[in-house]
Amino acid sequence: MKLRVSGDKLTIASAHMLAKHDKCARMHGHNYFIEVEIEGELNEKSMVIDFSEFKSRVSKIIKKYDHKVLIPFNSKNFNIDINDEQVTVSSCEGKVYRLPRDDVEFLPLESTTVELLSKFIHGLIKKDYPQFKITVIMSETPTNVAIYTEDK
Ligand SMILES: [Zn+2]
Repeated sequence: MKLRVSGDKLTIASAHMLAKHDKCARMHGHNYFIEVEIEGELNEKSMVIDFSEFKSRVSKIIKKYDHKVLIPFNSKNFNIDINDEQVTVSSCEGKVYRLPRDDVEFLPLESTTVELLSKFIHGLIKKDYPQFKITVIMSETPTNVAIYTEDK
């Protein structure tokens, strides 16, 4: 059986930029709307999982990225310099962003496309729920949606 959670608790607002992209190379933001499906056997309470418990856990995982600038730490297109209070991000296109360290969240990704973000979030959730099949449906706009699931 499969359950799906979504809603305000699973929405984050984040800024990012995509190198080598006409429009998206400029820093901009999205209200990412995240839905998560969890699939497994029913437990002794006839539930896959407790909805509110699952939602709270997922919310806690993703809120780390809320109201942050998401920087892909493994990108070949950004040079990142960090000191205690400042992060300087220089893109391969010659743009330089200087940001307060507290405003930035680094991700171990090559890019912050919604494709890679949904896969990354899937991995974080899966770590807490290894026995379930997890699917992450992540919208960067109401009409642009990435779906990451696992083969099982
Ligand atoms: Zn974007």
